[in-house]
Amino acid sequence: MAEPRFRAPRGTRDILPPESDRRRDLVTRFAEIVGRAGYSEISTPIFEDLGVFLRIGESTDVVTKEMYDFRDKSDPPQHLALRPELTAAICRAFVEHRPTVPWKVWCEGPQFRYEKPQAGRYRQFAQVDLEVIGTDDPHADVEVIAVAQQFYQSLGLVDFRLAINSLGDHESRPGYMAALLNHLEAHRGDLSEQSLATMAKNPLRVLDSKRPEDQKIVASAPVMADHLGGAAAAHFTALCDGLSALGIEYEVSPRLVRGLDYYTRTTFEFASDALEGSQNAIGGGGRYDRLVEDLGGPPTPGIGFALGVDRILLACDAEAVFPADPDRIDVFVVDVTDQTAALAVCAELRRAGIGADRSFGGRSMKAQMKLADRSGARFAAIIGPDEAAAGTVTLRDLRGGDQDRQREIPRDDIVAEMTRILPTTPTTDQPRLS
Ligand code: AMP
Repeated sequence: MAEPRFRAPRGTRDILPPESDRRRDLVTRFAEIVGRAGYSEISTPIFEDLGVFLRIGESTDVVTKEMYDFRDKSDPPQHLALRPELTAAICRAFVEHRPTVPWKVWCEGPQFRYEKPQAGRYRQFAQVDLEVIGTDDPHADVEVIAVAQQFYQSLGLVDFRLAINSLGDHESRPGYMAALLNHLEAHRGDLSEQSLATMAKNPLRVLDSKRPEDQKIVASAPVMADHLGGAAAAHFTALCDGLSALGIEYEVSPRLVRGLDYYTRTTFEFASDALEGSQNAIGGGGRYDRLVEDLGGPPTPGIGFALGVDRILLACDAEAVFPADPDRIDVFVVDVTDQTAALAVCAELRRAGIGADRSFGGRSMKAQMKLADRSGARFAAIIGPDEAAAGTVTLRDLRGGDQDRQREIPRDDIVAEMTRILPTTPTTDQPRLS
């Protein structure tokens, strides 16, 4: 095959069937689980005013190095950016629409970051995201973590860990920052050049450094936990107690700061042990009690998470769980007459909520049977000249489960017969309003 002239841009991928169907199933599973916890879906634009995302923090890689920003054709041009994450965009929507609180919403879709592509790290990647805006009850923190955990478990994942931390609140943060800065200043000579630059903007982010020369200094740095004031400490204790009450295992990770600057108090991260170290984060989140205000809204606390769909699917592969579902089609209609029967029978079956497919282009019996096998359908409904003349179809069990593998039934009975044999099939017919 000749080299294609164009390929998907570096760091992006085409997601093809059956993987694309599996992704959709994953998002559907997420929607079901969070829907049962009272969250509704919202959808925000894929691009926003760049200013919305600058709130992520001027010391973060997401803002300084990875933003896909551009000016559009308006006059004067607007400075826009493809969204690198959802929380800031959802908070912007909250400020714009002022819904009643607590606002429990979820969202899914592609995010864009100009990162160095590698396995599990892409420039376009998908997230499912969930936010509770308008309450600082620690039970909200427990709820979002519990919902994420339930989602992972529903996919069959077991090999993952939850780390939590508190980054303190506006009362406890300044004291801690002073202590941290003191420590970093004392080791200034040994810090990496990058960490020195980060330190000038946000010393907290130095704790996130993976550079070998910084490790010792980070390991001996003071931890927030020792500086938490009364309210922040009580919040963290309530979070820990709530997780324990639900039997959710966690480890307290005092240096967990995460890559976005807006977090206050609770932060958490889920890591998969089935994935390679540097790309093992399958989701994370935290509280952002100042973000809504930063975006021009009233003081409003919030908490949420984003889970990486691409990485969750990689973790599922690594743990051999949540395989692609091959059972989308129940019946493959093989019609070797003029194919009008295939047209009608497929439509009838589909209307009854039964998965039905067919071939196009009047192919031979052999070719159509091959397609039937490949479709994953449980049954072939075969219509040849004899069946057409008799008003029947021959039903063949393609998986050999049916006692009499092949039998002829009246064509008019096909929907009733399939409904009888197949596992429950919800009807897609909608009741009419009038
Ligand atoms: P963040 O928005 O940085 O808190 O990331 C939340 C989750 O999104 C991470 O735990 C990853 O699972 C996923 N993620 C973040 N960046 C990428 C990327 N470049 N490629 C794939 N997944 C990503």
